[in-house]
Amino acid sequence: MSRLAVCPGSFDPLTNGHLDIIQRGAEVFDHVIVAVFNNRNKSTLFSVEERFQLIEESTKDLPNVSVDVSSGLLMDYAKEKNAKAIIRGLRAVSDFEYEMQITSMNRKLNQEVETLFMMTNNQYSFLSSSIVKEVAKYHAPVSDLVPAPVEEALKRKFA
Ligand code: ADP
Repeated sequence: MSRLAVCPGSFDPLTNGHLDIIQRGAEVFDHVIVAVFNNRNKSTLFSVEERFQLIEESTKDLPNVSVDVSSGLLMDYAKEKNAKAIIRGLRAVSDFEYEMQITSMNRKLNQEVETLFMMTNNQYSFLSSSIVKEVAKYHAPVSDLVPAPVEEALKRKFA
């Protein structure tokens, strides 16, 4: 049976830190769905269509990765897709409390889907979408922080 994992997030926008987790997840699972969740109480710089498109372009060379959008509950989505696991990235200790809360709730909602955490690659441990947006706003270079399509999209946004 094919083993599928969901990699959920806001991805506003996708960074090299996200991409690293997606690539590593794709080595472990038969298929990874990167799911852009649109229901967080966050105002975003990129629309959900833009975020979807940027992930599509940035993962086009990964044959077992696909991209999707959802606005429902993650655990309902995982069940619908018959996913075995949720993959999340962990950076600093500051990620831990938030992730623990979400994971406990998700486990209550659906015990059949395991949440797996991947430690960030050291070079990305201080990288976040928020930092990237802050830097790009002032036209500083972000080429080593995000995939090329995202760099172009940020340039257009802040032109
Ligand atoms: P969310 O709003 O769900 O936290 P994000 O887009 O901020 O969505 O993050 C999606 C996932 O990617 C989270 O598990 C987050 O911890 C992880 N992540 C974000 N940045 C990095 C990074 N630099 N290295 C590893 N994982 C990361």
